[in-house]
Amino acid sequence: MSDTPETRNVVIIGSGPAGLTAALYTSRANLEPLVIEGIQAGGPTGGQLTLTTDVENYPGFPEGIMGPELIQHMRAQAERFGTQYWTEDVTELDLSQRPFHVKTGTQEVYAHTVILSTGARPRRLDVPGEDELWGGGVSACATCDGFFFRDKEVVVVGGGDSAMEEATFLTKFASKVTVVHRRSELRASKIMQDRAFKNPKVEFVWDSTISEIHGENGVVSGVLLENVNTGETSEFPTDGVFLAIGHIPNTRLVEGVVDTDANGYIQVIEPTSRTNVEGVFACGDVMDPNYRQAITAAGSGCKAAIDAERHLAELHA
Ligand code: NAP
Repeated sequence: MSDTPETRNVVIIGSGPAGLTAALYTSRANLEPLVIEGIQAGGPTGGQLTLTTDVENYPGFPEGIMGPELIQHMRAQAERFGTQYWTEDVTELDLSQRPFHVKTGTQEVYAHTVILSTGARPRRLDVPGEDELWGGGVSACATCDGFFFRDKEVVVVGGGDSAMEEATFLTKFASKVTVVHRRSELRASKIMQDRAFKNPKVEFVWDSTISEIHGENGVVSGVLLENVNTGETSEFPTDGVFLAIGHIPNTRLVEGVVDTDANGYIQVIEPTSRTNVEGVFACGDVMDPNYRQAITAAGSGCKAAIDAERHLAELHA
């Protein structure tokens, strides 16, 4: 640990589109932000976007752009205005003292404001083949990857609103969408269920889980279905597997200190990005269970930066 940790105006935790946009805005406001970009704690440096391939729905790139490249551009743009980066995970965050105290495994820093942009991670099945075929037909984002399944057959796992939404959305491209759900009843709201039931391209496999994902040459070729009542297994050929079994917001650092909603997402005081802890702001997927898009994350990062800037102006007035 350094002897005399410095005090920063802004420390941003997380380096997806939300954190990097907050960095861009606060650096352009001469606040010299520090981004602690993480290594692997809640996901990769640069967030979930670095796990995707073509991003075709981020405005400004008519030909599309690769996810990791988009993140690199955002990172470089914020760096140009004086953003500093630590490529480490935050291990401790003490919000009970002012300025706030932030520690990584090797360094520490004090902060007048903290912007939380730690993102969320899709819940995984934890079955053989899932990691190896991630990006090769296994996805947790129909909006991002559905386009690549034109006239193909896909499986959606889950029985909630997300699964129904993903299944219905995927019928725009896929020739057949099979929802695999572990019970015989959906959790999704009636309206979302009805929409899926009415869609002739959507079929259901009930009382079943996926116990293995199989691939050929790095591309999904099928799944092993297991009936939860009988234990019977069967091979089910498919071109893609979309997981819609929920997301897990990365809130470990602020558990019990920053307010969260019933699903564990950080609660902000709408329409701002303020949390219940004065001087702490949240943006991106860690506070957004609804949209979860790079562009909405970036927009909320901009809001957090402006809110932090205003808070600092009040502090130093
Ligand atoms: P969710 O409601 O928690 O549903 C998750 C689904 O995945 C459940 O059906 C669950 O099965 C299943 N599941 C969980 N773990 C599993 C596992 N390991 N293996 C197999 N299946 C598993 O999550 P969500 O659908 O993402 O929705 C989250 C919140 O966002 C909800 O409040 C939802 O209403 C909201 N949302 C709203 C909209 C909308 O209104 N447009 C769209 C998306 C999401 P069980 O049912 O057996 O537990």
